[in-house]
Amino acid sequence: MTPVLAIRRAGKEYPGGVHALTEVSLTIEPGELLAIVGPSGSGKSTLLNLMGTLDRPTTGTIEIAGQDVTVLPDRALSALRAQEIGFVFQHFHLADGLTATENVATGLLYAGVPRRKRRPLADAALDRVGLAHRRAHRPHQLSGGEKQRVAIARALVNAPSLVLADEPTGALDTGTSAAVLDLLRDLRDGGTTIAVITHDREIAAAMPRRVEILDGRLRSDTTRLAGVVPA
Ligand code: ADP
Repeated sequence: MTPVLAIRRAGKEYPGGVHALTEVSLTIEPGELLAIVGPSGSGKSTLLNLMGTLDRPTTGTIEIAGQDVTVLPDRALSALRAQEIGFVFQHFHLADGLTATENVATGLLYAGVPRRKRRPLADAALDRVGLAHRRAHRPHQLSGGEKQRVAIARALVNAPSLVLADEPTGALDTGTSAAVLDLLRDLRDGGTTIAVITHDREIAAAMPRRVEILDGRLRSDTTRLAGVVPA
């Protein structure tokens, strides 16, 4: 099977000579749920930006659904991102003036889905995250956990190859966090591929696969037999 994501020996150097990532290789197969875990400053955001095609590596290659994105021009990259990647953020990033359905439908805006199809698809995605009864609610009428469910539905609505969740429980209390993690597991069981980026070891421990990053290098990956990736 073609991996959803294949990063090969990627490096990222920021202007000023900061080596944020060094020789990072990571393959994600369809249907995986994994955590990328590391402390502040370890390179998680930089890696997330590369995985989400929001930034390009300085060295190495990145393939998404079999396509080398490091050579794609910006327009083609935006189109691929809209098709293949769904994003979930710590602080939800919902539009206050829009209902839950309308917020989810914004996930289809750049995917070339005709207008009349957007609302039924958005409602179906809200069903999947258990929010069928909140369709007409606006964000201020929803709890934190419900807001994150809406944001997850928005990330899913276009059936992306990969969902990238950046500290998805960082703004939630413990009980609500556990429910959101349960939802991610349910979605994975339904075939969605999800990478959670977090500094929280407890959240990582709840994931079937854990990839540890430190000082810009992958230090361990639980799918590797030895458990340790050579530097
Ligand atoms: P994390 O998300 O794990 O906190 P980052 O990817 O944000 O880590 O940062 C990794 C390293 O790269 C840090 O040393 C950080 O200071 C540096 N860094 C991040 N973004 C930039 C940037 N735009 N320019 C220069 N250095 C950066």
